[in-house]
Amino acid sequence: MTKAYRKNTRLDLSQAGLQIIDMPIPGAWHDLARQKGMTIVARVQDRYHLALACDACGKPSRHKISALRVCQPQCPHCLESQWQADAERAGLTFLRRDPDDNMYSWYRAPCGHELRRQPDRMRQIAAGKNGSRCEICHAAREAAEAETCGWSLLGPDPEGDVSYRLYQHGCGHQQRIARANMQTNRFACTNCGTCWSAAPSWLYLLRMTFPDFGPVVKCGYSRDPASRMHFQLGMSTDLGSKLVTQIPMATGHDAIRTEKRLHRKLRRTHPDSVLPPEIIARHLNVVSEVYDAALEPIILAELTRIAASTQT
Ligand SMILES: [Zn+2]
Ligand SMILES: [Zn+2]
Ligand SMILES: [Zn+2]
Repeated sequence: MTKAYRKNTRLDLSQAGLQIIDMPIPGAWHDLARQKGMTIVARVQDRYHLALACDACGKPSRHKISALRVCQPQCPHCLESQWQADAERAGLTFLRRDPDDNMYSWYRAPCGHELRRQPDRMRQIAAGKNGSRCEICHAAREAAEAETCGWSLLGPDPEGDVSYRLYQHGCGHQQRIARANMQTNRFACTNCGTCWSAAPSWLYLLRMTFPDFGPVVKCGYSRDPASRMHFQLGMSTDLGSKLVTQIPMATGHDAIRTEKRLHRKLRRTHPDSVLPPEIIARHLNVVSEVYDAALEPIILAELTRIAASTQT
């Protein structure tokens, strides 16, 4: 490969934007380069630089002469191929290096957004040690969460607490609320007193497919299951989500309590059907309460039993 490459030296170098400098190359340098899996093509740019062709891929790149002496020169083309492979295993697409910071690159997330990440992080995601959360989708989900409860998300907490946000109620009142409370609706508007947890609610069962796992079911509560399905799932990849059933609860508070009890029971009786958090986090903005679809008939039976007991 290196030999074939050498025939086109000048053309390849000019295509790679490397300007050849006409200076001698000592034989010892050639030996040194060969030991390090590289072939010296020419001196380029100024008296401090060389163009080295990588023995693995044959492509030229610019390196400092001093670097050839003291360390292993790294082929940027092979490195990028490695990043592409890591990203692919993590379910993303490598797009380009960040021109402003060589510690970062740009990737295309499954949702279609472009994310700036450190290449090392892709390897962690691929190994299941880390999730790849799209912050654009995440912000949209937080806004939709608030909307479902009749609030709009205005922005971060003016007092700087990362678990709080600033929201505005339908009545016009602005209030700092913990995001966790917005998700579970355990708060009331301090202006008009409206408290969602006192209003009617639903328990629901959704069926969907995780591309890297297979069919799963998610069980939860919501004031509006169809909208929850939309804001939670509609913005990530198409998971083919379908509402299997929903049963009415007298209040949001009842819904939360009943739902928690059901999950405790399912985790205890069917631990093998509980999906690991890292798999769930790749697809949804939650990390629990998702099960192997094999559990669907059992959850349906539980929900039917709950529906019958709340009606009497
Ligand atoms: Zn290479
Ligand atoms: Zn996104
Ligand atoms: Zn209000």
